[in-house]
Amino acid sequence: MQAFTYYMPTRVICGRDCVLSRGALFAELGRSALIVTGKSSAKNGALADVLSALEANGQTATVFDRVTPNPTVACVREGVALLQAAGADFVVAVGGGSPMDAAKAIATLAVQPRSDEEVFAGGYEARALPMAHVPTTAGTGSEVTPYAILTNDAGQTKTSITSSAMFPRLAFLDGKYMAHLPVSSTVNTALDAFSHAVEGMLSRNATPMSDALAKESLRILYPLLQKTAGELTIDERDELLYASMLAGMTIAQSGTTAVHGMGYSLTYFYGIDHGRANGLLLGGTLRLCEKKKVPALEEILSACSDTLDGVCATLDALLGQRESIPRARLEEFAVRAMSNKNIKKSAYEPTAEEVKTIFFSAFPAS
Ligand code: NAP
Ligand code: FE
Repeated sequence: MQAFTYYMPTRVICGRDCVLSRGALFAELGRSALIVTGKSSAKNGALADVLSALEANGQTATVFDRVTPNPTVACVREGVALLQAAGADFVVAVGGGSPMDAAKAIATLAVQPRSDEEVFAGGYEARALPMAHVPTTAGTGSEVTPYAILTNDAGQTKTSITSSAMFPRLAFLDGKYMAHLPVSSTVNTALDAFSHAVEGMLSRNATPMSDALAKESLRILYPLLQKTAGELTIDERDELLYASMLAGMTIAQSGTTAVHGMGYSLTYFYGIDHGRANGLLLGGTLRLCEKKKVPALEEILSACSDTLDGVCATLDALLGQRESIPRARLEEFAVRAMSNKNIKKSAYEPTAEEVKTIFFSAFPAS
């Protein structure tokens, strides 16, 4: 038997109105919450549900609603300052991956202060304020991972910080908050989840448990992925959210691979949404896996019940018109990607030339 460990300490609560019906669970986290969120949670009902659950428990709350996509260290510092001024002793994240990741960094830096130069230096102790997460997008799976991905301006990329204490204590999953999530965000976040499940299976750190989670994620996610460009019912939103969580549980064990490592340049320099950036690079990656006869490819396709051409056609249809990026820039991104630790974590470990080919195949020549 392959030797492996499995650790996923987050209590997951799924179901319609679960923040309200199981809100008593927040009581175990502390007296006073810092709610970390963006602007949309005030409109989709998630913030109101969290505030009433906390009030019913007699807990106080301070709202920090200034998290923007691809959160920066400055944003995290603003959150830590507000947390300390308010005397909050736990954190509730409400939103997509950006507020969830900002919340993890706030909960960690509040008890382990770091200078700007040291934020990305690693070596965090397993200490953070307790957290509950309420995802309002279905894609990142951040509610069940120990990673916070922040914009790293010094490195001109996005970099994750991690410790086992960054797993939230609680994750509440309810697709109703996504009723009005725009089509483009639905597609892009679903592509992120798909990428997590696929990359988990292509990782050198895959385990029997992470593969089982990834296959179940793909079985549910792939048919839904094809529907994300149209109207989804709330039940389908629930399913998407569940599949995204399974994909998050996958990467919590396996980590991500070259696709994520390469996509960060597309987001940092061209502002391309995180999930879309991964989606743009996936087709070329899967074709390389076929060329290199990577065994996991067959298992991925079987979990999707589709062929390689079929999966690539699905991705193409969802991605639509691709951005135009000069070849010289793509060559520069390929060089950057080669220094990312994710390259070596990939079972198909791409060469510098192969990374360049994937970038070139993702964008029309300009
Ligand atoms: P996001 O940046 O959190 O949100 C994208 C946009 O969607 C924002 O404008 C947001 O508005 C809006 N939005 C969120 N929920 C909505 C809803 N229910 N209805 C309407 N609009 C809504 O996007 P994301 O794709 O979820 O997260 C991406 C981030 O997660 C990236 O930084 C990525 O690196 C990270 N990530 C983390 C992990 C991990 O394991 N930690 C894994 C993958 C990706 P507001 O923000 O104003 O509310
Ligand atoms: Fe991701």
